[in-house]
Parts: sequence; C-alpha cells; structure tokens
Amino acid sequence: MLITAITKFTTIDFPGKLACIIFTGGCNLRCAFCHNPEFVLPERLEEMKHSAISFETVMNFLKARKGMLEGVVICGGEPTVQVDLIERMREIRLLGYAIKLDTNGLNPGVLRKILMEGLVDYVAMDLKMPLNYEKELVGVTVKDGVLEESVNLIMDSGIDYEFRTTVISGVHNEQVLADMGGQIAGAKRWALQAFRNAKTLNPDFEKVANTQRGELERLAEKMKGIVKEMIVRG
Ligand code: SF4
Repeated sequence: MLITAITKFTTIDFPGKLACIIFTGGCNLRCAFCHNPEFVLPERLEEMKHSAISFETVMNFLKARKGMLEGVVICGGEPTVQVDLIERMREIRLLGYAIKLDTNGLNPGVLRKILMEGLVDYVAMDLKMPLNYEKELVGVTVKDGVLEESVNLIMDSGIDYEFRTTVISGVHNEQVLADMGGQIAGAKRWALQAFRNAKTLNPDFEKVANTQRGELERLAEKMKGIVKEMIVRG
C-alpha cells in the first residue's frame, strides 16, 4: 500500500468516531477538478515515493493510539487500486478499529469482497455526475454498469454509508443533481460539498468560482425527499 500522508486526528471525517486518516497514492480516475493531483498523477507519485509512510509506521501509530482513537479513514487517491488493501484492512481490524472507506466506486469487485468480509463500517462513495460519467470530466472511460453496481452494493450492504458530490459551478445545476439523486433514490445520506479552486488537476478549473455554502444549502433543500438525509459541507 502506498501511504502518502496521515492525519493523526479528525472529529469530522468519520461520522460519530474519533479517527485518523490514511491517504493512499494512486487513482483510476483523472478528474479535471481533483484537488489532490499529487496523489493521482504517476509522475507526481514518483516524487512522493521517497517520503511515503510505511504500513509498519501506521500500525505502530495505531497500536499507540488504541483507546484514544476509534476509527481509521482510508482515502485516496482511490484506495481500491492498492493491491494489498484488503490484507491491510484485516490487520487494522485486528487492532479493534472501525474503518471508513472513501471510494470513487470504480472497483465494485474489491468493494464486494470488503463488504462480504465485514471489513468496513462506513463507506463514502463519490457521485461526480449522473452515472454515465463524461470522459472530459473524469479523464477515463468508465465501463457501463460499474458505478451502478457499487451504488447497489453499498445501498444493500446494511452498513452505514453516504454518497457525496463536490458541487461545481458550470457542471452541476438543479437538473443535473435531480438526475443524480434519481440514481440513488432512497439512499441513507447524500452530502453536497463545496468545490475549491486552489489547486486542480486541470488548471482550467482553477478559474471556476468556489462554490458558496448558500448555493449548497439551496440545492440540498431542493433535493430533500429524494434521499433520507441531505448534508451540506463547506
Ligand atoms: S477527485 Fe478523487 S477520484 Fe477523481 S482523480 Fe482525484 S482522487 Fe481520483
């Protein structure tokens, strides 16, 4: 597992749990608006490899924080591209930690194994646009049905979860969000979060305005009733 960073303490990234965050390097998408290009682009990852954190270091940290931290958030990049993800999750699990997995949903096969083995307590899946993602926005062609499979796996899993959307001016409007909502109708939770233009994979997106909280609240209000709970972040 390529671990690029650790946040040692968070009260907001794992609902209901005091947690730390493990950031993994590498992703199977190339979202134009991605604000972590250093965790995604192979040439940037090469630069980071010398400062990567070993899994042993992470385990030592987790052993030392037992009783203080309750959970571990694994995010990316995209964690499911790590070939040893499941093995590492088992090891974290054995220490007694709850695990939250952040994923873009492109690897339903890995997600299925994780869910079947009971290795995760909370899944947050990105929903970037209506499920037939446009290559211009996410950088790769996503096979038909892949994202729907992940959505269904999560919604049928019985564990806690959320879908989350970074709302970007010029990409998302009320109609687009309504279309997206229709694809996760009845879901437990949908979080709308603000786009920030400070650093993006495609520099063109640095010219796009930051999303205002008022706009997120307006859109969330309009989407009420499609899912059980709407959340606004940012
Ligand atoms: S936004 Fe997420 S899914 Fe998209 S390229 Fe960045 S890390 Fe990968």
